[in-house]
Order: sequence, then C-alpha cells, then structure tokens
Amino acid sequence: MLEDAKKQLDAAAKYADIDPESWERLQYPQKTLYCSIPMRHDDGTLKLYKAYRCQYDTTRGPAKGGVRYHPAVDRDHCEALAFWMTFKCAALNIPFGGSKGGISVDPKKLSHRELERLSKAYIAAVADFIGPNIDIPAPDMGTDERVMGWMYSEYRKIKGGHPLDVVTGKPVALGGIEGRNSATGYGGYYVLEALMDHYLDKVNLPVKESIRIAIQGFGKVGYWFAEKCYKNGLKVVAISNENGGVYNENGLNPVALRKHLESGELDGQGSKITNKELLLLDVDILAPAAIENVLTAENADQVRARMVFELANGPTTNEADAILNEKNIVVIPDILANAGGVVVSYFEWLQNRTAELKTLDDVNSRLKKMMQYATERTMVRRFQYHIPVRTACYALALKRISEANECLGNRNYFKS
Ligand code: NAD
Repeated sequence: MLEDAKKQLDAAAKYADIDPESWERLQYPQKTLYCSIPMRHDDGTLKLYKAYRCQYDTTRGPAKGGVRYHPAVDRDHCEALAFWMTFKCAALNIPFGGSKGGISVDPKKLSHRELERLSKAYIAAVADFIGPNIDIPAPDMGTDERVMGWMYSEYRKIKGGHPLDVVTGKPVALGGIEGRNSATGYGGYYVLEALMDHYLDKVNLPVKESIRIAIQGFGKVGYWFAEKCYKNGLKVVAISNENGGVYNENGLNPVALRKHLESGELDGQGSKITNKELLLLDVDILAPAAIENVLTAENADQVRARMVFELANGPTTNEADAILNEKNIVVIPDILANAGGVVVSYFEWLQNRTAELKTLDDVNSRLKKMMQYATERTMVRRFQYHIPVRTACYALALKRISEANECLGNRNYFKS
C-alpha cells in the first residue's frame, strides 16, 4: 500500500521544486513501532493483538494521525496512512507532520469493557513513543471520542499532570472541541462549496440545484458530509454502509436515515442497492467515504460520475486514478477532501495548550476559511500547470515540506 501511495508523489515532484535530499527523506517512514498487546477478555481468556504506530515525517512539526481499529490494519497500512497524513497537514499548512496507528481487531466483536482495556493497553504500549510535542493520536475508522477519552486517561495515569494536548477528538467534557465529530464531513463540504463557487464549469459540475451525490460509507465522515450537503440543498441520491445501500433519485434525508442504522440496515427511503452498484451510479459526485481501494482497474472504466470526491483515505488505486483522469473525471484527492478532521484536531490541540475555549461558530468558520484557502491554492496550481487536482495538491504539500527542510538547515552545503 505504501509503495502505491508513494507513486502519487512522483508526478508531483517536478511541479514542487523540491531538492533531491528532501525527496529522499520522504521515501521512508522515520519510525514505526510494532508491538503485541495482551488483553484479557471478559470470559477470562487472554488474546494478543498486533498494534502499530508510525511517524512518517516530522519536518513541519509533531506527528499527527488517527488510530484505526480494523482487522485489515498492519504495518504497511499504518505507514501508508501516516504518509497521507504528512501531505494532508502540509497541504492545509498545519504545523504538523504525519503519523497513524492502529490495532488489528474488529471492535464490533469486543464488549465495552474489552474495548476500554484494549485502548488503554495500546496507550501503555506507545506512551513513550507519543506525546503532545511528538505525536498526537486522534480517532479514525473504528475509534471514536469515547476511545480517545480512555486513551487520554491512560496516558495521564502513566505520565502524570493533565496533558490534554496528547490526544485530540476527545469528548467535549474532557478538553475536546466543539465540532470535531462533524469536522471531516463539514470540511469536505467546504471544499466542495469552494469548487462550486469558483470553478463550477471547470470541474464538470452542473448548477448547484442539479447536483446529485452518491456516498459510500455512513460513519463519522460520510454522515456529516451527507447532512451538510442535504441541509445546503444538494441532492444526496445514494448512501451505503458495509451492509449495503439505498437509492432514491429524488433524494434521501440522511438525518432520518441515520435512525435506521441502529438496526444495521440502511433501508426505509428508497430501493436497495449494493456497494458495487453505488460506485457505478450515474451521478455528478461519487464520494467514497468508507475504506481504501474501492475504485480499481476493474471498475474505474465503468464509473459514470463526473467527479470523485475522496472522503476516505486512499479509495482510488493508482491504476484507477489514471483511468479516471483519462475519462476526464475530476478527482478531488483525499489529502484535501478529508482534511477537515485534522484541521479541527489542530484547533483542539491549540485549545488544550492555551486553555482558551472555542465555540462551535469559531470552529466552523475557521475550518471553512482553511479548507477554502487550501482548495484555492491547489486549484491555482492545477490550472497553472494543467495537472490533475491530486498532483497539484501533492506539489503544494511537497513544496512546503521542502522549504521547511531547508529552513532547518537540512540541505547539502557540500554541493556549493
Ligand atoms: P467509521 O468507522 O465511522 O465509518 C465507516 C463507514 O464505512 C461505516 O458506515 C461502515 O459501515 C462503512 N464501511 C465499512 N466497510 C465498508 C465496506 N466494505 N463497504 C462499504 N462501506 C463500508 O469511519 P470514518 O471515521 O467515517 O472513516 C471513514 C474513512 O474516512 C476512512 O478511510 C478514514 O481513514 C477516513 N477519514 C476519517 C477521518 C475522521 O475524522 N474520522 C478523517 C480523515 C479521513
């Protein structure tokens, strides 16, 4: 996965004016911790879980990245996700490097107490590897604010004091920030809004009122993106989760649909469709918001959307990306589209360091400005060089990392 992710950089290098040594530094993760965590289950049995934390690059600041609980988590997964975090933070101009961690586990198979024990054991294992000035975890797939609360609690127990800034995405009652839950979805909407306001005809979209959207994944990211689109008058015609999806050409109400989730099903408002069918719907925007590698060489040539809006990390393989570009389908890359979460995590980290509380309005208006600015800087490059949006966004991020490296004195003086 990491090898594939790195290929996305190759195309961007020549538009970033990056020096060869900065480039070389970005080819490998700085550090990866790999450990096994023993956890006693409620029935008394002991099981060992594989866990990871990767700090990919810290040139621009402490590493920042989520913790994922999913059976597919492995070292390669974490390193690829940490790689994307590095470029996401740089593209958004947040003073962080990139990291990611995770445990190979299906959290749905654990009881509440088991999940708490496992989360605390994870922090006990990585406590000397992370820290408010070193590496700051956050939620990702399979983890949430409750898990972040447990993680903070364990870190505080080990290190002492009140280091609230060691974890973001915490409950508001425990130093969390208003608006963190909706940040990634809302951030995505602000990117889309900037595109609709300034580049409508250049990104293959019809007028706002006619835009039809299909969203794969209805979790923390997919739900809030759907809700914001719906509340702003865009038509969300298809939504799915891991059990399948629902389609209604007249539009769905995501807020009402969420209630069906408790039963594990997404029906009630339209006809059922499979995840495979959702990806190939004739819509204006296809927003994968679940897992990696759902658009591949096998299905990319059948995609009928005008735009792919990557809310998940890495939903498009390199082969699929090339096919979509060939078909003139605009791909808004993950490192821009889903960066809202890390932006608001940054606000939370700042809030914890300054002890100055931010309101929901403060958070959303600042999030909007940062997402709009990053979109504009990316699109300027995209049109200046006539390159795909992904390449433009990587070029922007690469340039910032390279400049930071130079300012640190990390350049070859022996050359001149
Ligand atoms: P989540 O666990 O809250 O939700 C995931 C959703 O995807 C659920 O609806 C689940 O049913 C669905 N899903 C899982 N497997 C699926 C499959 N095989 N087919 C279709 N749907 C499937 O996770 P999330 O936090 O919403 O994260 C989703 C994606 O967004 C991940 O790629 C994550 O890395 C990325 N992301 C999340 C954040 C964040 O703040 N949570 C930030 C940036 C990127």
